[in-house]
Amino acid sequence: MVRWRCKISGVVQGVGFRPTVYRYATRAELGGWIRNDSDGVTLEVEGPKEAVKAFVRRIEEEPPSLARIDTIEIESIRIVGERDFIIQPSKDSGDKKSPILPDIAVCETCLKEMRDPTDRRFGYPFINCTECGPRYTITKTIPYDRPNTSMAIFGMCDACRMEYEDAASRRYHAQPIACPECGPRLNMRLKNENFKEESANPKDSGINDSLIEKCATLLKEGAIVAVKGLGGFHLMCDATNDKTVERLRKRKRRPDKPFALMVKNLEMAKTLAHVSEKEEHLLMSKESPIVLLKAKATICTHWPSEKVTPGIDRFGVMLPYTPLHHLLFDYLDIPLVATSANLSEEPIVRDCSELVAKLGHVVDAVLDHDRPIENAIDDSVVQVIGDKWVQWLRVARGVAPLNLPVKKPIEKKIMAVGANQKNTIALAFGHNIVLSPHIGDLSGIEPMEYFKRTVATFERFYDFAPEALVHDLHPNYETTKWAKKVSFANRVLPVAVAVQHHYAHVLAVMAEHGVDRKVLAFAWDGTGYGTDDTIWGGEVLLADVEGFERVGHLRSFRLLGGEKAIREPRRVALAMLFEIFSIDEVLAMQNPTVRAFSVSEIRMLHQAWLKGINTPITTSMGRLFDAVASLGGICQRIGYEGESGLLLEAANIDKEVATEKGNCFKCHEDGLVDWEPLIRILAAGEKKSADRFIPALAALVEEIAAQYPDLAIVLTGGVFQNRTLCEMILSRLSNRDLLLPDKAPVNDGAIALGQAWCAIHRE
Ligand code: ZN
Ligand code: ZN
Ligand code: FE
Repeated sequence: MVRWRCKISGVVQGVGFRPTVYRYATRAELGGWIRNDSDGVTLEVEGPKEAVKAFVRRIEEEPPSLARIDTIEIESIRIVGERDFIIQPSKDSGDKKSPILPDIAVCETCLKEMRDPTDRRFGYPFINCTECGPRYTITKTIPYDRPNTSMAIFGMCDACRMEYEDAASRRYHAQPIACPECGPRLNMRLKNENFKEESANPKDSGINDSLIEKCATLLKEGAIVAVKGLGGFHLMCDATNDKTVERLRKRKRRPDKPFALMVKNLEMAKTLAHVSEKEEHLLMSKESPIVLLKAKATICTHWPSEKVTPGIDRFGVMLPYTPLHHLLFDYLDIPLVATSANLSEEPIVRDCSELVAKLGHVVDAVLDHDRPIENAIDDSVVQVIGDKWVQWLRVARGVAPLNLPVKKPIEKKIMAVGANQKNTIALAFGHNIVLSPHIGDLSGIEPMEYFKRTVATFERFYDFAPEALVHDLHPNYETTKWAKKVSFANRVLPVAVAVQHHYAHVLAVMAEHGVDRKVLAFAWDGTGYGTDDTIWGGEVLLADVEGFERVGHLRSFRLLGGEKAIREPRRVALAMLFEIFSIDEVLAMQNPTVRAFSVSEIRMLHQAWLKGINTPITTSMGRLFDAVASLGGICQRIGYEGESGLLLEAANIDKEVATEKGNCFKCHEDGLVDWEPLIRILAAGEKKSADRFIPALAALVEEIAAQYPDLAIVLTGGVFQNRTLCEMILSRLSNRDLLLPDKAPVNDGAIALGQAWCAIHRE
């Protein structure tokens, strides 16, 4: 006989770990106990040595599906003669290291119960179990126990309490357990009744139902309804109704940025878009993200309005992921626009009064409920490239907080504060790096408040006081300023470390693959502060955890009017023309860029360019896309980031046109990549010359990569969200060792992760 004490760390709380262990122990007739503590779980087990060994092995080999075991420490202790195995209440002690889990889409078993008229949760929109439902969004602090969640305000009824305490139940210690008797309730507010609350009393049978039906009717009639989900509200409306979608665009002042769709089911998704096996898997996954899909060429009866994704041939599609969404679609046979309820660029709204205050003018009704959202979170966004690369564009609901295991223990508690756009933060400690959900763009007061709130939340979750802070090299990033201030306020510690933006992009990919060796990286994005105080963005870096060498970059050019150039591709193109041609030559041109300006505007901008007034220097690849779109007559102004790239892709690239980079780019010995040949072709207005651009870029990558035959290749930065470009590169580099970001975002959402990876290796 032996008695072992095991301390298990990893993702072991809130995943049905204790009931699984309990089942294994009772089946093997072993005695002892298990409990959650702030480091993970601790258990003691007693019985014949072989049986105890087999029991521990079984935990390692068959943990619950959502669990991830990082370490098991085993210690042999004195036998006490325990026969039964019990689950002890949680003990709050020591370091809070157990990761908080993301929210999980409603599971099949719960849906079946919800559809069963004899079940006590029939039609109940808040049904959940140990394997599904809210987590991060309801968690105030850890351990993840009901009193530490926003469910604390709902007293469990006897029936729920019984399930909660029964280790054999599917809802054993399911913290958000609820039923119509004791749980959250829906309510509805109508604009024409001044958003007065109309509550559902679920005890009066059918009222929940009638509110949902009413909501569906409003949607069918063309109303815009805010519907509370897991991490915030969606603005929903009938996606097939031109007028309604247009009204939503007007009211929300969002002229052309694509809206996401929520569709009834997989079948409906397949009538709208091509869905590969991988994409189907993602749509149906427990993370339930928005999946970017290629629209079908033939339109069907429920075809969305042109205004949902103006000018581009993609749909962002998600399936219903809360029980409420499923119930709503019982009454609907149309795809819905489902876009985050926020003012543009502000954080997602998480309670009804805030919604009415900020978006009362946008919505006709609100379908609300009384389960508070503790932590707001947006929907995640993903796309599959070449059937190989699962590329995350936004890591949020279902995926974040993203926990990445680290092999070697991390010495210091590190906090990385990320970039200014698509901001996320990362904490590194113990054997973990945790990446926060998408926080957003940090220009403005509200977003900075949201950033600080997220920092506070994560510090509370992990009882975390940073010993080192990492930020971007950019002196004017809000996050840089914040990190320096905090660092200063703490005088000695934490130390603030600055990491160059594109190097951080590369490090992020290395972090998620646990790599520290040298790589050849293409870090292409819109903007990032360079070590020479100019704006980088078209970089080729040789990098390892020690540092990097800039072995290639685009020929630099100027951004006419600074920030303005980012919204006006024509300004970027004009500046490139100024680099190559005289002012008279430019004025004599007949291309779309030149035609987009008056003669006096061109002369004035040329003066500014000559004198270098408000014309920062850049090597940005994102801006080169803009220039090509302008000269190609595709767009002169953009309404959202990345628009020019999407429009270029939609402009039906003829893959045969250019297979070599030779006629578009010229590579110099020192690594300079000159775009002059490309711009000359475009400036001459040769028909469909913009078609050559993306294939030429892919050829360029192949040529540079060939110079480093032994190195793994990293592709990172927002430019690689361009699917056509990536597909072409992947097919050209099919025999190379590729390191691609496929857990963390490909864009600035991963900067914090890269910063953390840098600090970990600076110890
Ligand atoms: Zn469930
Ligand atoms: Zn109940
Ligand atoms: Fe970037």
